[in-house]
Amino acid sequence: MLINIISLFPEMFQSIFNYGLINKSIKKKLLNINFFNPRDFTDNSKVDAYIYGGGNGVILRAEPLIKSIYQAKLKMKNNTKLIYLSPQGKKISISLIKRLLSYNNIILICGRYKGIDERIIQNFVDEEISIGDYIVSGGELPAMILIDILVRQIPGVLNHISSCYTDSFFNNGLLEAPNYTRPRVLQNLLIQNKVPSILLEGNHQKIKEWRLKQSLGITWIKRPDLFKKKKLTKKEKILFNEFKNSYLKKNNFLGEKR
Ligand code: SAM
Repeated sequence: MLINIISLFPEMFQSIFNYGLINKSIKKKLLNINFFNPRDFTDNSKVDAYIYGGGNGVILRAEPLIKSIYQAKLKMKNNTKLIYLSPQGKKISISLIKRLLSYNNIILICGRYKGIDERIIQNFVDEEISIGDYIVSGGELPAMILIDILVRQIPGVLNHISSCYTDSFFNNGLLEAPNYTRPRVLQNLLIQNKVPSILLEGNHQKIKEWRLKQSLGITWIKRPDLFKKKKLTKKEKILFNEFKNSYLKKNNFLGEKR
């Protein structure tokens, strides 16, 4: 995947490129990233300007952005997607990520200040993408989040790609079941000091079933909005009812409606 980033602050990205999976995918040549800084295309004028009509604040001017876009496109073949990271865009979701993975060439525009000239959005941007209903100071952090999410899904990046299929949300719309590691018993803990015995018995079918039951249960507890959307199979209904009954019993909520 080739990602060309248009940003006033390319240095910010070093923090993610030097570590972890993104670093690994660059080294393995599964991911290639280039930067285009609108400041390099300004003819000695400023990269930002005041907004027509009055009001406080500045936005990024169109001309340096247009030149950056043309330069970024020069390095790309067909099947290019031009994305503007924007709080007004579609929120990142699993289906959006799956769709983006079909593009080998992605250009990301990182806005700053009060944003960018609307004519860039109207004439060049294929899609606006948001990290959520709040405002951060620039598109760099949202771009880093998007890249990190995409990279995890590129075949060959994760040692075991199947491990991300059990991650929350990718796990058939459910949260991931709880995980434990050594030691088997933690002394002096009041709530749960032992690893659930089923995980130590080596029966993979039973472990799979236990994990599904926990996923259904914790999604119901932590994310009722997701749980409501989930259509349960017959088997899942049985597992969920087992979880719910023992949870309610344990918490003395018997009879209480969720
Ligand atoms: N005035 C803009 C508005 O209300 O829509 C927000 C500008 S924000 C301070 C500056 C830049 O940060 C935006 O151009 C965008 O690139 C980025 N940004 C801010 N919040 C974002 C979000 N939730 N998702 C994606 N990008 C965001």
